[in-house]
Amino acid sequence: MPLSYFKVSGQINSRKKGNGLLKTQLKALKRYQNDLGNLRSHHWKYHIDLYENCYFDCKYCVYRSGDKMGKVTAFEDIFDYLREDLLNLREKGIVYVGPKADIYQPLEKKKQLMRKALPIFLETETPIFIITRSPLILRDIDLLSRMAEKGLVEVSITIASPNRLAELEPFTCSVEERINIAKELHDHGIPVSIHLSPIVPYLDDINELKALLELINRSTGSMCTYACMLGMREAYKSNVFNIVERMDRDKASQLMSIYGEEEIKDVQSADDAALKSIMEQLHDHAKVKGIPFACVHIPPLDTVEREGHIFKYKLPTIGDIYRHFSRKQLKEIRWEDMEHYLKSFAAVDEEFLEMVKNYWGEGVILKNTYYHTFRHEDGHVTYTLSDKIDYQIENMAVK
Ligand code: SF4
Repeated sequence: MPLSYFKVSGQINSRKKGNGLLKTQLKALKRYQNDLGNLRSHHWKYHIDLYENCYFDCKYCVYRSGDKMGKVTAFEDIFDYLREDLLNLREKGIVYVGPKADIYQPLEKKKQLMRKALPIFLETETPIFIITRSPLILRDIDLLSRMAEKGLVEVSITIASPNRLAELEPFTCSVEERINIAKELHDHGIPVSIHLSPIVPYLDDINELKALLELINRSTGSMCTYACMLGMREAYKSNVFNIVERMDRDKASQLMSIYGEEEIKDVQSADDAALKSIMEQLHDHAKVKGIPFACVHIPPLDTVEREGHIFKYKLPTIGDIYRHFSRKQLKEIRWEDMEHYLKSFAAVDEEFLEMVKNYWGEGVILKNTYYHTFRHEDGHVTYTLSDKIDYQIENMAVK
């Protein structure tokens, strides 16, 4: 009996919020943009998984669930509702396919779920985003090229330092192979970006990372490199720590020193100083070399604004919001300014506006930018431009 996607996903995706029922009556798709973490740098509005668990078993995977990583199950019943959901969407938004398990992992060779899903995305003209580490994606070049002709797809290939791949990603292909995958997709007219992730502080040498950035850009024609530093999430913390300790005991204790105290269980990012030092160096290098670069954690360090193809349907990120107002040199932003800007995006709906408004009130919507929160005596919040970045990265720790 195949596992049901619907039992796992927890049914229909509608939620009570504020004064009323927000109307996302989805069955196969789920909302992606539903917290501040996802709002940082990801433009996707929806997501869908085709598999539960992932054969690749990356040791830092936030979706790790103990020894179940190898027990992969296909959500074959997803097709009962996918077309219906896509046809019923009021506002088109980008769908991230496979955030929790690589859709091109080995079982896909047999099950062909993505091969069945792609014609549905094509027929419904749905923009999709795919991240993979697998050469199996090349099987679908015919369909992906047709999507690309209509501006409906971007593929991101995850690449990390080759020096520690065998330890941290035991079942994935080499960096060289991944560069070839990206190149081949690009040669067929399919937009490609690179997910340079995870960067592991102390273990990854900054000069090697710079060289990797250049190599990727030179050889793949990628439209952007998203750089992302390792967090220390509960799901993998002891796993990663033990591996790094085996590789280099000194580096392991240095590594832990930048993720805070031991009782902090779940940390999305290293501390400000470590993060800033690595990302700033990569940003500066990318800028000099003309490489489109996006820092997932600190929006002012992006050198690129995502436009065109699937990004016609994007939701604005904190980076977009920051750039919009700083370009206008607006010294103070009020909620009305923000709302007006957000409504200029076709994919923005009531649910998205309400989420941003909640974070606005909490004073965190422009964290890690040059805008700082100012709370007035009557309790309402404005954001004011400063000459220093408002780092709130340590707040990303969950005790
Ligand atoms: S490929 Fe992605 S989903 Fe699969 S184990 Fe690695 S990080 Fe997790």
